[in-house]
Amino acid sequence: MEKKVFAFDLDGTLTEHRTWITDENLAVLDDLAGRGIRVVIAGAGQTRRIFTQMREHPVDIIGNYGLQYAEYRDERGDLEILRDLTLPCDRESVAERIERLRGVIGFTDYVGGSVEFHPSGCVTFPLLGTKADIADKLLFDPTREKRRAVFSEVAAAFPEYTVFVGGSSSFDMAPKPYNKAYALDLFCREEGYEHAELTYFGDDYGTGGNDECVYLSDFDFVPVDRYIRLPEIVSAYLASL
Ligand SMILES: [Mg+2]
Repeated sequence: MEKKVFAFDLDGTLTEHRTWITDENLAVLDDLAGRGIRVVIAGAGQTRRIFTQMREHPVDIIGNYGLQYAEYRDERGDLEILRDLTLPCDRESVAERIERLRGVIGFTDYVGGSVEFHPSGCVTFPLLGTKADIADKLLFDPTREKRRAVFSEVAAAFPEYTVFVGGSSSFDMAPKPYNKAYALDLFCREEGYEHAELTYFGDDYGTGGNDECVYLSDFDFVPVDRYIRLPEIVSAYLASL
């Protein structure tokens, strides 16, 4: 089956977390568009933040694990937000479960708030607290082993969410059924593509990673181990088709 859509994760795949995409990787996307391949970004963050990191490049964006979707409009030179869902969140119950979990998994010391609620209905469980020092956060769990060690307990406490090992020291939670695999399926259904016509490129496909659900799905998955290698990874993939 001919590939019609290449979908890309943002952080770690096209660029570093919270940094702008490089000229080299933008050129990869332009080259794909020139070959008639539709490019879509499927990120964990909000469409606006992704658009900024993409240096406002003309591209369609799935944000917040599919809770948001925006298409680029040439005539405006801007995104048009076509979906921006807010799902209900039982904040009291979530906060109670996080306090209990902190006792069980051993993260009772934290700075600032114990939990962060987002307007979309997503939740962040920052192990070090919402006001922890950035240096402490970066040193906390660079290999993710601390969070992977308790991942199953955290996931089990929140059956109504998909739980991800996120950022440097937190768990991110998206209300079910939203995750990137669901978001790509929704995109295919809405835009009229077969799953086999779409290939996804991502970096975070290990246990609890936000690309793991796509890696385990029927979508073709291309691992991007380092974003600076994206040009060679995409050319090798194109040559393999
Ligand atoms: Mg990533």
